[in-house]
Amino acid sequence: MATTPQELGGIQQKRLAEFIEPFRVTPGAKVTLAKDFDPAFKAGVNKKKDGVRFLAEGVQTLADYQARLAAQESYGLLVVLQALDAGGKDGTIRHVMSGVNPQGVEVRSFKVPSAEELSHDYLWRYATHLPARGMIGVFNRSHYEEVLVVRVHPENLDRQNLPKTARRGDIWKRRYREINDWERYLTDNGIRVVKLFLNLSKEEQRTRFLKRLDLPDHNWKFSEADVREREYWGDYQTAFSEMLSHTSTKWAPWYVIPADRKWFARLAASAVIGHALMEIDPHFPTVTDERRQELEKIRQMLTEQAPKGAAPDPFEKDGDD
Ligand code: AMP
Ligand code: MG
Repeated sequence: MATTPQELGGIQQKRLAEFIEPFRVTPGAKVTLAKDFDPAFKAGVNKKKDGVRFLAEGVQTLADYQARLAAQESYGLLVVLQALDAGGKDGTIRHVMSGVNPQGVEVRSFKVPSAEELSHDYLWRYATHLPARGMIGVFNRSHYEEVLVVRVHPENLDRQNLPKTARRGDIWKRRYREINDWERYLTDNGIRVVKLFLNLSKEEQRTRFLKRLDLPDHNWKFSEADVREREYWGDYQTAFSEMLSHTSTKWAPWYVIPADRKWFARLAASAVIGHALMEIDPHFPTVTDERRQELEKIRQMLTEQAPKGAAPDPFEKDGDD
């Protein structure tokens, strides 16, 4: 017997689940980035050619599901992208989202906070850019900067002008808990959170900085600040490891995406996002029998208004073309 589309979808979802499993951070596991995740891992996809072909399929899957997500208007999807400088966030967004309807996606890049943003609680600026139901929101950097750059450079915390009580004890543990609670609240209310960390090696970062220096078309992307941040490589590795250990949850697990090969990172990111959409399983809305009868009455009325010589209903099944 032939396989039904539903069965095919099921097989595809299971294959994706197996493919992305090695990237998923088990909730509660203690992560040491350097020991636990290899930035050059290829999950059995050894040829770039194959990776590029699979990515094209992934882009198509995303487009199909996004159309249904938008039509259903019940769930939203928030994609959180974190990486070190030159980790490939921009290119990943450009490629992975290339097939979806631009009306259904909103990308937000978070920079150094403005005075207005600093005058609010630290999750405020992220909350104001969450996706609506039916939308895919992409955070290029995210609320996780609040436990990454803010942790590595504590002067950022001073700028937040917190009351003494909010700095007492272990502020980072408290922020992990607050972020977990916030994401749980979002998930419970139909806003699914998918978190991707693009994991780059120090040597590949050096190479990518050199490319920005050597190729004129890439010069604009080079920033001395990025090279200075590289001196804090160890501190960032610790901050990322802590973040992964404390904020990978059942409702919003982290995926550590091997990022030394751009084509692989894009493929893996599209797989994780596609899998989340398959789990949401959005459907085009259907009409009730009662509504269908109402529509039939309106259709009759419109066909009766046809001028002489015009087809009463050019779309009527078995009617004249
Ligand atoms: P880019 O992504 O290269 O445009 O750089 C944005 C910069 O904003 C990076 O250096 C981030 O570390 C910084 N940034 C983002 N969010 C925050 C934050 N909450 N506090 C301080 N700096 C931030
Ligand atoms: Mg930068």
